[in-house]
Amino acid sequence: MNEEMKSLSENDKAFAASADSVEASSDFPPAEDGYQRLWTPQRMVYVQGQDKPKTTDKKECPFCAAQEKSDEEGLIAWRGTYVFAIMNLYPYNVGHLMICPYRHVGMLLDLNDEELQEFEKATVLSIAVMKEVSHPDGWNVGVNQGEVAGAGVAGHLHQHVVPRWEGDSNFMPITAGTRTMPILLSSQRDAYAEGFTKLQGDFGLPLK
Ligand SMILES: [Zn+2]
Repeated sequence: MNEEMKSLSENDKAFAASADSVEASSDFPPAEDGYQRLWTPQRMVYVQGQDKPKTTDKKECPFCAAQEKSDEEGLIAWRGTYVFAIMNLYPYNVGHLMICPYRHVGMLLDLNDEELQEFEKATVLSIAVMKEVSHPDGWNVGVNQGEVAGAGVAGHLHQHVVPRWEGDSNFMPITAGTRTMPILLSSQRDAYAEGFTKLQGDFGLPLK
């Protein structure tokens, strides 16, 4: 064995010894990343596929089906000219609303000018309604476009408007199980519907 080979061999041994002393990363607790997370076990049924449309087809779409029902039965809080506001059956938080176009389209790019205008104005109106009805401290607002981006109903565009209160990520585990009760959704819808009717004029809605 020449000197070079010998030293390589010793390096290998040293490396092997140090590798033995390295602990697997799975033995460590997850690193703190500074983000608070909503704990939403009631959404698991949805994530696991119950009630989730298997395709993006209009025939399976819950937002298209809801439009055909009465406001109370479909949990629709407001109907505009091009869009409507509907309660989320699997809320991230109490009073979670969604703004949807009437048309069965999946992307913001699919909206025409009027739809886009009312979609955004209705989002702002829904924030004002929540402020009036339940005084949140903040909101999460946004769109997941496409299944890959987390859209539960990928075939039909919907903007989430989620009210937030100070400390809600702490009490959520205690109350989460009651959140999908139809009676609660129904009373939230009623309160919102009244707020939409009262405030829509201030926002020039519905369009036309
Ligand atoms: Zn649809």
